[in-house]
Amino acid sequence: MLHANSEEKQSIGLMGGTFDPIHLGHLVTAEEVRIKFGLDKVIFVPSGHPPHKEAKDVSAPEHRYLMTVLATITNPYFNVSRVEVDRMQAERTYTIETIRFFHQYYEGKANLFFITGADAILEILSWKDYQELLSICSFIAATRPGYSLSKLEETIGEVCPEALCNIYVVEIPAMAISSTFIRNRVSEGKSIKYLTPEAVTQYILKNGLYSDAKPQYKTPLSSDTKNRILK
Ligand code: NAP
Repeated sequence: MLHANSEEKQSIGLMGGTFDPIHLGHLVTAEEVRIKFGLDKVIFVPSGHPPHKEAKDVSAPEHRYLMTVLATITNPYFNVSRVEVDRMQAERTYTIETIRFFHQYYEGKANLFFITGADAILEILSWKDYQELLSICSFIAATRPGYSLSKLEETIGEVCPEALCNIYVVEIPAMAISSTFIRNRVSEGKSIKYLTPEAVTQYILKNGLYSDAKPQYKTPLSSDTKNRILK
């Protein structure tokens, strides 16, 4: 297993996700992985336009970026990157481009760990340039309790057994919370207190995200972002 300071390199976690919205499950995952893998820091990378999702089904990148900043602000080991959010002109944002960006940024001198949900990693063999991805970065798959690891082993192991050496799995009980669960609760007018940091809850309510309720106050967004929402 790659570990912090092996070959005296930094170890950097890149926490990739749509974060619509970010919740305590994501935060617990990042902290747990940081400690377990001895990472120097975890950089959250809210996705721009995820390749497998329609833009209209996902909140504006700027909203997801701002909620991620609010959620991570109190942890000195956490940072948030705009690298995918700012790739607005791109039709789709692919993980390989993000990993290449960080590989270059650290001049190849850091071990990179891409952290995301196990269900997303199950699909990795369909991701753009997945072989290059697996060669320049390790993957950490966060699972919910009761998730069957054999799914991952069968799906990836059968086609590309060598890829399994580069994929680590961590079970996170707090991942029983999901973004879908939170969005559904907001749309049903139910409380989401304690499922996400209070600042994120307030951001959701102020901006009327996930519900038809009138926003209490709207966060000003750039004209680029407004155009995307109106599309
Ligand atoms: P998703 O399909 O919305 O989520 C799949 C599962 O993983 C959900 O249960 C989700 O729970 C969980 N999950 C997502 N991000 C997580 C995280 N950081 N930590 C723990 N669990 C997480 O996945 P997604 O958010 O769209 O994609 C995940 C990442 O993979 C993104 O960075 C995306 O850009 C990348 N990706 C890249 C490609 C490509 O390059 N071709 C294709 C697909 C995905 P929640 O809903 O609660 O988050």
